[in-house]
Amino acid sequence: MIKAQGIAAFNAKEALKPYSFERREAKEHDVIIDIRFCGICHSDIHTVRNEWGEANFPIVPGHEIAGVVRAIGSKVTKYKVGDHVGVGCFVDSCRECAHCKAELEQYCDVGFNATYNSKEKDGVTPTQGGYSDVIVVDENYVLQIPKSLPLDKAAPLLCAGITLYSPLRHWKAGPGKKVGIVGMGGLGHMGVKIASALGADVTVISHSDKKRDDAMKFGAHNFISTKNPEVFEQNAAKFDLIINTVSAEINMDDYFNLLKTDGTLVVVGLPERPLEINPFPLVMKRRSYAGSLIGSIKETQEMLDFCAKHEITPEIELISPSQVNEAYERVVKSDVRYRFVMDMAKI
Ligand code: NAP
Ligand code: ZN
Ligand code: ZN
Repeated sequence: MIKAQGIAAFNAKEALKPYSFERREAKEHDVIIDIRFCGICHSDIHTVRNEWGEANFPIVPGHEIAGVVRAIGSKVTKYKVGDHVGVGCFVDSCRECAHCKAELEQYCDVGFNATYNSKEKDGVTPTQGGYSDVIVVDENYVLQIPKSLPLDKAAPLLCAGITLYSPLRHWKAGPGKKVGIVGMGGLGHMGVKIASALGADVTVISHSDKKRDDAMKFGAHNFISTKNPEVFEQNAAKFDLIINTVSAEINMDDYFNLLKTDGTLVVVGLPERPLEINPFPLVMKRRSYAGSLIGSIKETQEMLDFCAKHEITPEIELISPSQVNEAYERVVKSDVRYRFVMDMAKI
């Protein structure tokens, strides 16, 4: 077994604490990764606070993992010692269903093996995430991080980056398309940068007026502050595509009305309680309401290469793992600029 040092939640109420545990020995297709950096995603907080249910403690969260290959199993062909690599939200999947065969593992029919709060391929061993110093992952679920991307800034791409890249590509954000990004936190600010690199006309729709200047710096063309409810009327029927990244419940009807006829609102935010919807604004203009989950391994690699090519990186606040609990409080208050990343060498 491989000794690992991490930070874990032991129940839904208390602060995260240091935790020593063991990773499996590397099998022939496994890669042993020294974790250098791990981002803090709002999903980590929803999970450990048991806002989504089904939390199995202790949980070592973290699915925005960037590191360096320490060792490889005898049959690994894709990676070598010293490579810069990443691990995102899942570490395996069934590999046999139609989704896995079509390289859409995030929609695996039996459910992928999530990076934490799930089970390894053996169906028994709990998976533990990236708030730790080492991880063992099958090479087919590891991503190559281009050397031009600094590892600390690459980490958030593994969840925040791909979660916005995938719907922006699927719904064809690009020149001539008006795209709205609701909520400019970790996910949202990546959405602004990626949509603008794709050539779309980008508007941030935020409840934090003080983020206006940053939005423009990240490539947004417009900023709508929802503090003033009149903005919903003023901007009615303007957008082809809106992506809702908000981690809390918001009134969806307001946002449906911002879509043009045939426009689509994609929800990626996963608040604790259900979002209520009124069908009228959808029906009256043939609008679509859709969802999207992270992205596949293939698409995540494409996104990393796209970000390297276009020099897109997140805005990060680098912290030590001992600051994780304060960081959680700041994320919940929308007071993160724009992703906390932990330096796992300091664990
Ligand atoms: P985050 O950094 O906390 O950003 C969320 C943003 O939502 C905030 O910065 C804020 O933006 C806005 N917001 C928060 N509370 C609000 C409220 N009460 N009213 C209006 N706006 C509010 O979180 P994140 O890491 O980006 O994650 C966002 C959500 O996506 C979470 O629910 C997470 O679990 C989910 N998620 C989903 C996927 C997927 O695959 N679908 C993947 C990763 C994460 P403004 O200050 O600009 O308003
Ligand atoms: Zn995430
Ligand atoms: Zn599958």
